[in-house]
Amino acid sequence: MAESRNIVIVTGIPGVGKTTVINTAVEQVKERSGEDVLVLNIGTEMFVVATKAGHVKDRDGLRKLPTSIQREVQREAGVVIAEKAKTAKVIVDTHTLIQTNNGFLIGLPEWVVTAINPKTVVLVEADSEKIASRRTGDETRTRDAQAVTDIQIHQEMCRAAAVSVGTITGATVRIIKNREGLVEEAASELADTLLE
Ligand code: ATP
Ligand code: MG
Repeated sequence: MAESRNIVIVTGIPGVGKTTVINTAVEQVKERSGEDVLVLNIGTEMFVVATKAGHVKDRDGLRKLPTSIQREVQREAGVVIAEKAKTAKVIVDTHTLIQTNNGFLIGLPEWVVTAINPKTVVLVEADSEKIASRRTGDETRTRDAQAVTDIQIHQEMCRAAAVSVGTITGATVRIIKNREGLVEEAASELADTLLE
């Protein structure tokens, strides 16, 4: 277990704007305090592990793997993250629930969050309609189409998942709204959490 709580987990459903908000918050922290924040991504670490094992060729192929393999890959990635996160101020960019062909895979199971021991779980949320349009507008990724009502249910389930992490670890749970065109505002709240 990491011994001090210098890790903030940032989560929220695909396309809500986690990575965008994180990048801006890291700049704001640098401006406000001169500190660097290390951003780690469980999906990226999983992709590295899965590629080495020959399971996938592209990142969006991860969630299509049999769930037993996804869990195995996730376990290895969790160990890598916990190790890397031992020293600096860290953000872990991740999903709490991953839509697979067999229901939701839990992105932050007990053994991952216990290893990470976060200070805070930040849940980024936005209007479901906006998320649908952000996904369609993002040409850098191969995103799954999802009905607006399903996006809404997925967001509600993410709240439950975020609270579960708080229950297991004692981390605080902070909801940050990523309003359309107002990334700076959401990022400023995340910077407050990092600097608390
Ligand atoms: P994933 O979980 O799949 O990695 P994500 O939550 O990290 O997704 P981003 O990649 O940060 O999401 O953002 C998705 C798209 O939404 C991007 O094209 C981004 O530019 C856009 N976007 C993010 N935040 C906002 C905002 N506040 N207003 C308008 N567009 C936004
Ligand atoms: Mg992202």
